[in-house]
Formats: sequence, structure tokens, C-alpha cells
Amino acid sequence: MNNFTYCLPKSALEAANQKMSDPAAQFIAGGTNLVDRLKVFLDKPSQLIDISQLNLQTIETTADGSLRLGALVTNTKVAENQDIRRHYPMLARAILSGASQQIRNMATVGGNLLQRTRCPYYYDRAFPCNKREPETGCPAIEGMNRNHAILGSSEHCVAVHPSDMCVALAALDAVVEVISPQGTRQIPFSDFHRLPKNRPEKDTHLEPGELITAVTLPDSSKNPSGVYLKIRDRASYSFALVSVAASINLDGDKIEGVRVALGGVAHKPWRATEAEEFLIGKSFEENSLTEAADIALQQAQPLSQNQFKVELAKRAIIRALKVSAQGGGIV
Ligand SMILES: Cc1cc2nc3c(=O)[nH]c(=O)nc-3n(C[C@H](O)[C@H](O)[C@H](O)COP(=O)(O)OP(=O)(O)OC[C@H]3O[C@@H](n4cnc5c(N)ncnc54)[C@H](O)[C@@H]3O)c2cc1C
Repeated sequence: MNNFTYCLPKSALEAANQKMSDPAAQFIAGGTNLVDRLKVFLDKPSQLIDISQLNLQTIETTADGSLRLGALVTNTKVAENQDIRRHYPMLARAILSGASQQIRNMATVGGNLLQRTRCPYYYDRAFPCNKREPETGCPAIEGMNRNHAILGSSEHCVAVHPSDMCVALAALDAVVEVISPQGTRQIPFSDFHRLPKNRPEKDTHLEPGELITAVTLPDSSKNPSGVYLKIRDRASYSFALVSVAASINLDGDKIEGVRVALGGVAHKPWRATEAEEFLIGKSFEENSLTEAADIALQQAQPLSQNQFKVELAKRAIIRALKVSAQGGGIV
């Protein structure tokens, strides 16, 4: 590791001020992703701003019925929370499908949003990587790209966002709260992460100095039949090849409401809005689901080794919606 200084701010604003005054500094929360990156010199911060003791560790219901998750609530505490399990089960299931119990005990809400891609070229400094060092190239485009993006990628980067939790947050229309020396702002989840375009080194739309303080789940997201289906190479301790967070509300056999978000397919959690719009008002039947899945993947541009993800994603969408219609249940 290279040398860095360490500070332990007493408030979120103090942490944001500290970061603003030293752009090469980095926040550290649970450390489960950042420390791995430090060890292989992917990140070389001038200082670590330890936010782990800040007062951002509670889950509370707000006046309008939303559920507000402090940025430092651990992934375990979110997954075990009774309100989450009852009203937002796809979120609990998404979290429990990721990492290990020990890692989830350390990992935080804010850190999960900002974990970086698991593209092997990003981690291996023997190879160029536009995300690690801009304008050096993307060997994954012609190389080992089985785990990479099929939607929304660019000629500069085909990496995928690795988080499971974020796929559920995308489906639930979560809102990210941040603080900076300029004040506070709220970012709709769909605008939080970004596609790579020609700046793959930037994962999000966060501004310099901004600290995530909370993630809010709107009351309207409540859906006890929400499911999370994760397909991966191993049954546990493995990132998603494809995942789906989905929920569906039926009136008889008519589809009144539907949410579908995909993981493992793009540089950001991918909300399948066109497929959702297609399904509203349709009968819940095989043909509608198949057509919606086709719509969700119609822009797919698979790489040499991941053509299989297109069909896998379609089948995963259909299965997740069917399970949701039966009341949920996939972990
Ligand atoms: C072996 C292993 C397997 C894993 N498997 C999975 C998996 O299957 N699915 C999955 O989704 N995840 C998986 N993970 C990733 C894990 O979920 C993340 O490492 C974790 O969520 C990161 O949270 P953290 O608090 O430890 O973040 P840190 O490591 O502390 O920070 C990560 C990044 O976020 C920034 N940051 C942290 N908090 C804030 C904040 N409040 N505001 C602004 N910036 C902030 C830091 O500066 C840093 O850049 C795995 C990790 C490991 C090590």
C-alpha cells in the first residue's frame, strides 16, 4: 500500500468538507471493497476519511411512509429488518444473495452503491483498462467477456455493475440522499449510476465532495410479492451472470403494476421500463410475458462470449414475474 493519512470526522458535513478540501482523499465505510482495491494499488488515496462512526446507522419510517436507510446501516441489518422483509422483500433477498455473512456484516448501504466492477481487466494492472486509466483501452471487448455487459455498453467499456442490492433499489425507485459543502440533494436511483459512454472511469453522477447519507424507499414501492432471482456460476459467493428484481400486481388476470430491473447486464442496474409499459393493462399470460422479455432485451448487443446472457435474461424475467404473481419466494 502507498502511504496515506487517516481522519475520523464527527459529522457528515465535516466528512464532506474534508473530502472537498482534498480531492485525492477517499471515504471508507465497511472497507470490504476499498481495502481490496488499496491492496492492489487500484486506489492510491492521500487520506482515508473514516465515516464508519458517523450517525448514519438507523432505519426509520418517515412522515410520508417512506423507509429511510442510513448510509452506514450494514447490509445484514437491512436484510434482517422486519419492515424490509415484509414490505420490500426483493431487497432483503437481493442482499442475502450476495457476498457472505461476514462481508454483509461489514458492508454498508453507501459502500454497496459505490462498489466497483469485478471486471478482471480492471483489477489486473498487467492489462490496460479505460476504467482504471482513461484512454488506455478495453481488452475485454475482444478478450474474456463472458461476464460482461450486453446492454448500454460503449466502445470504451463493457464492464457491469456488480451489486445485487442496487438492482432491487432500482426496481423500488429508491432515492439517494447526499451531502456536500454546498448543501444536500436527492438523486433518483435511476440517475445515480451512469453508463460508460466515453468516461468509464466515472461510475456515478456524484459531484466532488458528496457523501451519501441515506437511501429512501418510497411508500409506493411496498410490494410483498417482490422477488429477486440471481443466476450465477456457483450457488453462493458468486456475482450474478444475470439477475432480476421483479414484482407484479394483478387485478384478476389483468396486470395493474409491474417492476423489472436487471443486474449483471450493464454498467448500471438496468430498469426495463419499456417492458413494464408494455405489460400494464395486459392479461397475465405466457405470450405477454414472452413479448415483454423480448422488449427488455431488444437493444442487447452481446459480445463474443456472452450471447447466452440474452436468452438467460429473458427466461429470468419471465420466471421472476411468474413467481411474483404467485406471491414471491425466490432468494
Ligand atoms: C469476496 C466478496 C464477495 C462479494 N460478493 C458480492 C455479491 O455477490 N453481490 C454484491 O452485491 N456484492 C458483493 N460483494 C461486494 C460487497 O457488497 C461490497 O464490498 C460492499 O457492499 C461495500 O460496502 P463497504 O461499506 O464495505 O464499502 P467500502 O469498501 O468502505 O467503500 C466502497 C466505496 O464506496 C465509497 N463510500 C463508502 N461509503 C460511502 C458514502 N456513504 N458516501 C460516499 N462514498 C462512500 C468508498 O470511498 C469506496 O470507494 C462482495 C465483496 C467481496 C469482498
